[in-house]
Amino acid sequence: MAPTYVKALSEAQNHLCCYCHQEMPAEKHRQTKRNQPTKDHVEPRCHGGPTRPDNLVMACAQCNHIRGAMDAEVFYDLIWYWFRSDETLHARWHHISHHEFRAFQKECARIHQLQWQRRLKRCVAARVLHAIVPLPFLHERRA
Ligand SMILES: [Zn+2]
Repeated sequence: MAPTYVKALSEAQNHLCCYCHQEMPAEKHRQTKRNQPTKDHVEPRCHGGPTRPDNLVMACAQCNHIRGAMDAEVFYDLIWYWFRSDETLHARWHHISHHEFRAFQKECARIHQLQWQRRLKRCVAARVLHAIVPLPFLHERRA
């Protein structure tokens, strides 16, 4: 993928992650392991998604890693559900603890597996998703 294309895509997204909407700085010195821009395959590579402009968006490294092979739409619904469940989470998204990072990643893997088992529709409505996501780990963390 040509670097100019990646640059154009980042600019088209106003340097915001397509999932969490946090800034992904273009300047190297402002980038961290979590906020750096990465190419993200909407249809995951492991499911045969091609590396082509029509299958790529720019996502922060953190969202990219937490999402794993989950459907892009489901991941989007899920993280905004998390942001609504914990009003501090959006602001500190790129500063969450390693423990939280792993918990979110595990939750995505679990839901992804459930989705395949139940052959749910690709674009799961948020209310369906909420019914299958108990989020016990969010409450454990607060306790
Ligand atoms: Zn993000």
